Amino acid sequence: MSTIPDLASLHALGPAQQPTYPDRAAVDKAVAKLRTMPPLVFAGECDDLTSKIAAVARGEAFMLQGGDCAETFEGVTADNVRNKLRVLLQMAVVLTYAASVPVVKVGRLAGQYAKPRSSDLETRDGVTLPAYRGDAVNGFEFTPEARVPNPQRLVDVYHASASTLNLVRAFVTGGYADLRQVHTWNTDFVRSSPVGQQYEQLAGEIERALTFMKAIGADPDEFHRVDFHSSHEALVLEYEHAMTRIDSRTDLPYDVSGHFVWIGERTRQLSGAHVELLSHIRNPIGVKLGPTTTPDDAIALAQRLNPDNTAGRLTFITRFGAGKIRDGLPHLIEKVTASGLEVAWICDPMHGNTFEASSGYKTRRFDDVIEEVQGFFDVHRALGTWPGGVHVELTGDDVTECVGGGEELTDMDLSSRYESVCDPRLNRVQSLELSFLVAEMLRQA
Ligand code: PEP
Ligand code: MN
Repeated sequence: MSTIPDLASLHALGPAQQPTYPDRAAVDKAVAKLRTMPPLVFAGECDDLTSKIAAVARGEAFMLQGGDCAETFEGVTADNVRNKLRVLLQMAVVLTYAASVPVVKVGRLAGQYAKPRSSDLETRDGVTLPAYRGDAVNGFEFTPEARVPNPQRLVDVYHASASTLNLVRAFVTGGYADLRQVHTWNTDFVRSSPVGQQYEQLAGEIERALTFMKAIGADPDEFHRVDFHSSHEALVLEYEHAMTRIDSRTDLPYDVSGHFVWIGERTRQLSGAHVELLSHIRNPIGVKLGPTTTPDDAIALAQRLNPDNTAGRLTFITRFGAGKIRDGLPHLIEKVTASGLEVAWICDPMHGNTFEASSGYKTRRFDDVIEEVQGFFDVHRALGTWPGGVHVELTGDDVTECVGGGEELTDMDLSSRYESVCDPRLNRVQSLELSFLVAEMLRQA
């Protein structure tokens, strides 16, 4: 299937979760501009990631996918990008070293700007306005001007993603991600925490191993750079369609807005526009599967999205909730596996565990997050299948958005540094704690 369906035919499918733009001409102008922009990623890089995810599907690697629920244009700063990358590198090192498994590193980064919402509208103090749908669509500020969907923002997404990706590429190949830097990633507040101390010890062991390797004359390229990939939810059709191009090497379509794109829980309708568009692209892709997913739904999605049954092409990202995963997941995995379908299974322990705290903030309990990952590992172990990875919302900063963890954040702490414009993220200490706990689960898997 080397064709790209046209945008009008996608709209004819009645896509869910799309912005209602007031000015069609402005949309056409933004889309025309995007079509002229160079790709953000190279198709060959997407193929490399597919091969890596194939190793995940075979049980030979583990995938770490993480970043903001919603990136913001304001958040595109050197510090912010570095902090997110740094916590992901620390987590990856913990997982790789403590569990001796290769880790495929994927950021919810450089493109994660559009959000599905449960309601089109938001009401505050009797005033009703369009809901915030991410910086790709409208502004977070609660004013009529900010909340009008503005298609120029799609062009801004492109530029914000390009700046972010450029910095990430510089960091991961230019020395920052060098393994000899493991100690220096452990800076400021995290260093003094108990988990920071635990990390310090592990970093010391890695450093000794590296010194030994160097002494015997081994200093491979892998010590000095890492492979890092971008990903986001493919949600706004105008953007994803404009960024879908025919690769000159293979004559096949790729969505060159990111290495990996996924379909969200709210847009995975089998005959919907998102499934249709992503069925045509060659990138590795994901689909979120919530607790209402039947085995037949999952099988039909796999057949539609990966008709050749290519390993690494399709990742199922389950997000059941801590209380539902042990009952709901086994049936799904069993039927999909029995059908002979090649999929990588990843656990999103965030989206089934969101609730409103007494203080009014949207939050998640660290213990629920861990309990869902533990349930995921236990289910896979019982079935003899491979728990392929985790998909988490996190930030490199010291925010107070999720309760619990070693710092024992409470409802009352949430107001002190709640910065997410959408879902609550694990902070840097909580993220590192999660990586040690997951490493332990992996060691036993
Ligand atoms: C998300 O990943 O931020 C999200 C909205 O997830 P889901 O589609 O699983 O609800
Ligand atoms: Mn989210």
